[in-house]
Amino acid sequence: MKRVGIIGGGASGLIAAIQAARKGAAVTLFEKQKKIGRKLLATGNGRCNITNTDIDVSHYHGHNPRFVNNVFARFGLQDTIDFFRGIGLPLVEGEEGKLYPASLQASSVLDVLEYETRKLGVTISLHRRVDAIRTRGDHLLLETAGRERHEFERVILSAGSCAYSPLGASRSGYELAESLGHGVHEPFPAILPITIPLRILHRLQGIKWEVGIEVLLNGKTKSRSGGEILFTAYGISGPAALDVSRAANELVLQHQQPVIVIDLFPGMTEEDLRERLEILWTDGDKGAAFSLQGTLPRRMPQVLLEMAGIQADRKSGALTPAERGAVLKILKRLTIQPGRPRDFSEAVAAAGGIDVNEINGATMESKIKPGVYITGEVLDIDGESGGYNLQFAWSTGAIAGASQC
Ligand SMILES: Cc1cc2nc3c(=O)[nH]c(=O)nc-3n(C[C@H](O)[C@H](O)[C@H](O)COP(=O)(O)OP(=O)(O)OC[C@H]3O[C@@H](n4cnc5c(N)ncnc54)[C@H](O)[C@@H]3O)c2cc1C
Repeated sequence: MKRVGIIGGGASGLIAAIQAARKGAAVTLFEKQKKIGRKLLATGNGRCNITNTDIDVSHYHGHNPRFVNNVFARFGLQDTIDFFRGIGLPLVEGEEGKLYPASLQASSVLDVLEYETRKLGVTISLHRRVDAIRTRGDHLLLETAGRERHEFERVILSAGSCAYSPLGASRSGYELAESLGHGVHEPFPAILPITIPLRILHRLQGIKWEVGIEVLLNGKTKSRSGGEILFTAYGISGPAALDVSRAANELVLQHQQPVIVIDLFPGMTEEDLRERLEILWTDGDKGAAFSLQGTLPRRMPQVLLEMAGIQADRKSGALTPAERGAVLKILKRLTIQPGRPRDFSEAVAAAGGIDVNEINGATMESKIKPGVYITGEVLDIDGESGGYNLQFAWSTGAIAGASQC
């Protein structure tokens, strides 16, 4: 019976443990925290967006995103749905193709995974941080922080990324892989709020608004989304801002100068909006900001007009054609520059990670260190928001586990 040691009791480590145990392996799973699946419990705002009906390479990023094609060909969406149904967790579809547990509770996902691992006889070793992977003859030794040594024929590294440190995420997985000779693309935070250094914008703190949002570099669109954004004390948050944050962060870290363009009226053409403004300005005695009061949330007209270089109390009737054009422009193309990325502690995912060209996509085995398998977010693949990161974790974990026969 093959002995398999798994490093990390998160999404991909747990599914790997189940699949390996089903193949008859004697599995020991090491988790450095005092509980398994802490991040899993926080997913999807506590509902766990397990996957998405539209699993496709276009939702993934990294130096070689096509790697996911190999992975999903072996364990894809339907396999994931069947796997969870098989362990007592039917999925239901929510908005935008997102799939959730029918209970709408992340805790039930962890409960069924944990039940299954225990039923299959997986040994779960909590509070055991693996600090080193060593070789002894044909075998692999896992050394924990407490200097315990455990010997295995195979090891699955499922240690996750360094995103969202409040739940215990760290660089541990990258360091272990580097110690084996793997290359790691420097991780950077993805799916998180965006800092906008422009201070006047911070006066909009607390306002939520439906927008179209784009990240552009030299006039070319690098990322685009639509939906709600939330103005904050330091910049912008909300689902649409999180969607484009990866592109903004990557470009800023490359010392490029991207801009973020926000369309505050995505449902209207420029012409329709111009007509609406002209109607609002028919009473020329109204202050320019006051004339927009019924159209935009409080504080916004004042701030936007200031940004357009127009005094808020100017009579709207006195606005020149150029000033009217400037108001229209700021409403349809509010252009701002992103600042340095915020910290990993706020990031839902990490971009970068272990080079996937060094992994066999059919088994998840390392091409550098035979006998070691690597799965989940520690790899240089990050998905968009919407269930894509968990799907990658399930698929890679399941493949690595099923390869232990
Ligand atoms: C707030 C939040 C919400 C999210 N919501 C969603 C969502 O709804 N849908 C979605 O698709 N994705 C979501 N994600 C992303 C998703 O949770 C991750 O992509 C996924 O958990 C990655 O799985 P993993 O197994 O690779 O890593 P993890 O789930 O992070 O598990 C890694 C485990 O390894 C342990 N570990 C690390 N190093 C060691 C070591 N040296 N020794 C022993 N143990 C170690 C860690 O403590 C951790 O328990 C969310 C992330 C966050 C932070």
